[in-house]
Amino acid sequence: MEGPAMYRSTYNLLFSLLLTYYAHVSAMASEIKMRYVISVPIFLLLLLFLICLIRTILVGSSKAVESNENTNGWQFNNHNESIHRFMEAINFETVSWAPGYTNKSEILKLHDHLVKSFPLIHNSSFITKDIINMYSLLYYVSGKNMTLLPYMLTAHLDVVPANLARWLHDPFNSVIHDEYVYGRGTIDDKHSVMGIMEALEYLLSLSYRPKRSFYIAFGHDEEVSGKEGAKKITEHLSNENVTLEFVLDEGLMVTDRILPGISQPLALYNWYHGKRLPDPQIECGRCKWSFIDSSSRIGDWNISKGLTQARDPSTCKYVWSWTGKRHVSCNRASRNFFYKFVYSNLWLFNPIVAIVMSRKPIDNALVRTTTAITLVQGGIKENVIPTSASAMINHRVHPSQTIAQVIKFDKSVVRDERVIFTIRDSEEAHPVSDKSALAYETLEKSIKQVFHNVVVAPGILTGNTDSRWYKELTKNVYRFSPSFLNSEDVKRFHGDDERILVENYFQVIQFYHNLIKNADEMEEPFRLPHDEL
Ligand SMILES: [Zn+2]
Repeated sequence: MEGPAMYRSTYNLLFSLLLTYYAHVSAMASEIKMRYVISVPIFLLLLLFLICLIRTILVGSSKAVESNENTNGWQFNNHNESIHRFMEAINFETVSWAPGYTNKSEILKLHDHLVKSFPLIHNSSFITKDIINMYSLLYYVSGKNMTLLPYMLTAHLDVVPANLARWLHDPFNSVIHDEYVYGRGTIDDKHSVMGIMEALEYLLSLSYRPKRSFYIAFGHDEEVSGKEGAKKITEHLSNENVTLEFVLDEGLMVTDRILPGISQPLALYNWYHGKRLPDPQIECGRCKWSFIDSSSRIGDWNISKGLTQARDPSTCKYVWSWTGKRHVSCNRASRNFFYKFVYSNLWLFNPIVAIVMSRKPIDNALVRTTTAITLVQGGIKENVIPTSASAMINHRVHPSQTIAQVIKFDKSVVRDERVIFTIRDSEEAHPVSDKSALAYETLEKSIKQVFHNVVVAPGILTGNTDSRWYKELTKNVYRFSPSFLNSEDVKRFHGDDERILVENYFQVIQFYHNLIKNADEMEEPFRLPHDEL
């Protein structure tokens, strides 16, 4: 049992025990009644506290944070050249403004830059390159053992626009300042483009040929849907009947001091939630719907009341289980006794933790489907009574809910048959990736080899990425970027003065290097692509 049912039954059990006890006590003589009324509940509370305390000690100490110092043969010395190549890549204005509107001439310049920067990759006898739909790139690195399923590393070549007036440094003329490289795309997502290529070029310089084959996919329009890039790459691979062991796409990052009580760096990425959920999914879905009051007068239906209800936190219920799992993973990192106590006893405190988390926007989407009212319209003139009104509601659908469930709930809140609901645009949350898969272990190992003392924990990515297309190729899509963000840097993502620590960029290269080597160790029996079974 898991989730709300478990907590309901835990609380029900405690409550019914209490009721039985008081029914028993009320039948006693009044002189001994008082003694029991006070002493037994105190005893029970102490017992509960003792159980929680023992769990805190056992859970908290059973699994210390592992710090793997193994650098996996990493002796990278090309720091100056690699940072120079990275900064040059930043300078190409590969901006996507809207679907179909990406600065394609700059994308082609970036292609040339990759060819020039990585000669070993482009001249290797076991690496091929396909240009997909003229601007996206797909490399295939053929491994020595063709019985192993290939995997895919992905990133994207385009960036979001930058408002030059608000930047301290020119976003397309990168500079190093205070140990940071500044420029558009340093975090999203050219550090991964260049980091993957640097890692592979370095391995080739050591005459390394991987055992397991892999693809490298660079879409060119991720910021505006990926329909021209990642979607075409997926179609290309599907036509060749390619099935992947896993895909690693951009996603959550290594963060520091973002979650309360967690004093160590936290690497967040997807995890598998288990099969008990009716519809296990990951990545928040999207659902925008509008409603129209079709009555002759807007006053017939109290739109403000309806909107207030739609926005009310109770509209979308908490989904307890996610918070629980996530924090169980995190509690080992907490040095604060209070947090350790709470996180080690989520069987009791999970609903409270969920409520606390929901108060913070960054955590709210982890525990529930979120609701935002984005457009409200009604009336055409100040002295004309409006005959209809409409509102647009934007939901981020939690992985444990379906769009149908959310709409059903919305209708039950509005409760007015004259209101017409229309779904404008929607996408279910993505499937949850397998936490028990070897790929998950391999990623976790690779993260810990680079970011020492880090806690690896699952999370939910609330935005969409190119993996919306790549998920067709595998059941294991992991969304993780090996970049390090503190709470102040989070604002720079798609914001102003985007930057990455120089030292972190070398960690990015090392992470991909380690991942390629570790993926060779995850040997599994040969599995045929699904269409050949
Ligand atoms: Zn991105």
